[in-house]
Amino acid sequence: MTCQFICPVCGARYPTNEPIWRCECGSYLDLDYMPALDRSRLPEEKTMWRYRQVLPLDNFNSIASFNEGFTPLVPMEFWGLTVLGKMEFLLPTGSFKDRGAALMINKCRELGIKEIVEDSSGNSACAVAAYCARAKIKANIYMPAGNSAGKTVQVRAYGAKLHEIEGNRIDCANAAIEGARKSYYAAHAWNPYFIHGAKTVIYEIVEQLNWQAPDYFFAPVGSGSQILGVYLGLAEMKRAGLIDKMPKLMAVQSNKCCPLKDYVEGRPTPVSTHNPSIAEGIAIHKPVRIKQIIDVVQKTGGDFVTVDDTDIIEALKTSALQGVYIEPTSAAAVAALKQYAGKIPDGQKVVVSLTGSGLKASTKIDSLLDKK
Ligand SMILES: *Cc1c(COP(=O)(O)O)cnc(C)c1O
Ligand SMILES: [Zn+2]
Repeated sequence: MTCQFICPVCGARYPTNEPIWRCECGSYLDLDYMPALDRSRLPEEKTMWRYRQVLPLDNFNSIASFNEGFTPLVPMEFWGLTVLGKMEFLLPTGSFKDRGAALMINKCRELGIKEIVEDSSGNSACAVAAYCARAKIKANIYMPAGNSAGKTVQVRAYGAKLHEIEGNRIDCANAAIEGARKSYYAAHAWNPYFIHGAKTVIYEIVEQLNWQAPDYFFAPVGSGSQILGVYLGLAEMKRAGLIDKMPKLMAVQSNKCCPLKDYVEGRPTPVSTHNPSIAEGIAIHKPVRIKQIIDVVQKTGGDFVTVDDTDIIEALKTSALQGVYIEPTSAAAVAALKQYAGKIPDGQKVVVSLTGSGLKASTKIDSLLDKK
């Protein structure tokens, strides 16, 4: 399926058979692509590629894949609220980022790209490194120095070249862009293919609910690839007549780094590194797609929720006591439920995206368990 890149700021269009990652005006690019899923043509396979009808690749015959996707949707209980946990941490590298990386790296492969650059604090680097290993593409990963060892080790084990950058996330992004001059900047925050891969999560959820949209969708939000993907999938399904309403999208951030809420309430977001939240994966103080994220949340009647570390720890422990071992960043979305317990009427379907595995963060979780 061929489509074009389109710039949401200046309207410029670019062909998608060239390795372009941003508009000449500096903005990120989207895809001019609004496919409609025909349910009667769904294949038997229970993977994210089941929705290939609505995924923008030219050829699905020899994709680099682990047959990933169709993660379970499991009832859980938090603060008396019954919710459905979407087990995204069960994806091959331990986080939802595998969906986006799978599509983005396969698109790179179609373009004949041999080497890419990505910058990330952790899970997207792991995902990109694994898919590059599978697709035989050389991966250069730029990470802020001093990140969780679990994720750094994983990236190196996949054979990616790790560039550890002193300074903050912006220094890291700049170093990556510089490093990408001779290859391709395949960054999850910028690349629209990543978002189209991420959207498969909501196709799965809607299908798992017998082709009904849930009432709420809670997710931890950093760069916004998941929540933007979810909105994209919902918009496609609504247009195709598969669902008639959208869930409220609930964008959860740490109270120590909450650019979405700050923007909506007219405050600047401080670049603070001295007291970081334990939810490191969503500590993005200036998301590239911030206005787009705010727009989709507001369009669904959703909200911007902030949570503190104490509630994140409580959420993580409550989840683990139900047998579900997630990392602190992922537990932030669960922590937000505390503010809604007793407010959401019975019978409403609440989905929480359990985005990342606790297995990479055991050292950190160890120190949290000691706290009472
Ligand atoms: C990256 C990440 C997020 C945030 O996703 P964005 O696409 O950056 O909004 C949430 N949870 C986990 C575990 C992550 O790794
Ligand atoms: Zn532009």
